[in-house]
Amino acid sequence: MLIVKKFGGTSVANAERIFNVAKRVIESYKEGHKIIVVLSAQGDTTDELIEKAAEINTNASKREMDMLLSTGEQQSVALMAMAIQKLGYPAVSLNAFQCDIYSTSTYGNAHIKNISTERIGEELEKNNIVIITGFQGVNRNSDVTTLGRGGSDTSAVALAAKLNADLCEIYTDVDGVYTADPRIVKNARKLSEISYDEMLELASLGAKVLHNRSVELAKKYNVNLVVRSSLTRDEGTIVKEESAVEKMLVNGVAVDKDIARIALVGLKDEPGIAFKVFSLLAKNKISVDIILQSIGRGNTKDISFTVSITDLKSVLDIFEANKNRFNYEDILYNDKVAKVSIVGGSMATNPGVAAAMFEALYDENINIKMISTSEIKISILVKENEADRAANAIHDRFRLDQVK
Ligand code: ADP
Ligand code: ASP
Ligand code: MG
Repeated sequence: MLIVKKFGGTSVANAERIFNVAKRVIESYKEGHKIIVVLSAQGDTTDELIEKAAEINTNASKREMDMLLSTGEQQSVALMAMAIQKLGYPAVSLNAFQCDIYSTSTYGNAHIKNISTERIGEELEKNNIVIITGFQGVNRNSDVTTLGRGGSDTSAVALAAKLNADLCEIYTDVDGVYTADPRIVKNARKLSEISYDEMLELASLGAKVLHNRSVELAKKYNVNLVVRSSLTRDEGTIVKEESAVEKMLVNGVAVDKDIARIALVGLKDEPGIAFKVFSLLAKNKISVDIILQSIGRGNTKDISFTVSITDLKSVLDIFEANKNRFNYEDILYNDKVAKVSIVGGSMATNPGVAAAMFEALYDENINIKMISTSEIKISILVKENEADRAANAIHDRFRLDQVK
């Protein structure tokens, strides 16, 4: 079999963990499989590099940020190759440049476009365990790009898809996908399987156990995907087309604390304003999530929306630069908010789900700042320091700890 095994930052945080991974990889190699290992940067390396950059320039260009951040993954792969070699097995590390992982140009949030498998194939042919940097790509200027925070999962799935791997295993610091982040909701339940669509929704709503684009790719190319622990031998969670086991009203709760709300106050109440606001953001490649427009008063109205926290500064800069065009009275922001969402395939056909969710929050005396719904999810915005309590209350309300 050809197996892609991806290990996250915690799993390779120090020498001991690296050897732990090396041994697990070798075990699989000895069973006769061809192995590709994809790694993240060790521990908190990526965060530390971001802090280092800020000490030098808080306005560093995205190109230079990628040049810096991509070094974290490069350290991991070299160290892993050394560990495997030390244990007496053949290994070679490759970065994105060496194995031609071509991406779009957008620094900091590039998408993988293509991977040329020649070099990887050659190395596998030589019976090497091939260790590849996650999170990195190379754009058409031959510059290093990164795929967005958590992007190593996407590197692994893209490689598995391109190489037609039999299996793609995502090893992390939890032993599978749960009904909610087990660090926040203590009685969250591990799922034996979950469908691509539900996983995609959870990942997009903040359950960072898988990078959302990795799930998108897995669905598109039907990759055999499993999430499991690098520290225990427990069976993980299978992510697949249709999950027959779980057909529940609500499948999971997701919390996203990395968002901010922005309000444009006192905009002119006339046709085309929303179009102008959001097309300006789209032109700057800023994704907007929950949107709320107030009822007009006099000749003005307010529009508020949420964005990823990493885009907050850009958004404020963009509107500052376009102040004359929009003529708003004020621009306000709040980065101490969080989004709590529930996901479930059969929500649309079951009335009362939203009411039950809101009741759980009412019982906890938690105020809802914004609401957004779709056929398969309901999201609410709350104060960041109330998000964990909200997630627990909702999880309890739908009894997600129990198998239905
Ligand atoms: P890695 O470094 O291995 O990529 P991440 O920190 O990116 O690990 O993702 C794993 C984390 O995702 C877990 O430690 C857990 O706190 C969090 N998480 C959020 N939602 C869920 C969920 N529904 N199931 C499991 N883990 C979740
Ligand atoms: N090292 C990167 C990050 O911290 C990528 C990853 O871990 O997947 O976001
Ligand atoms: Mg991750």
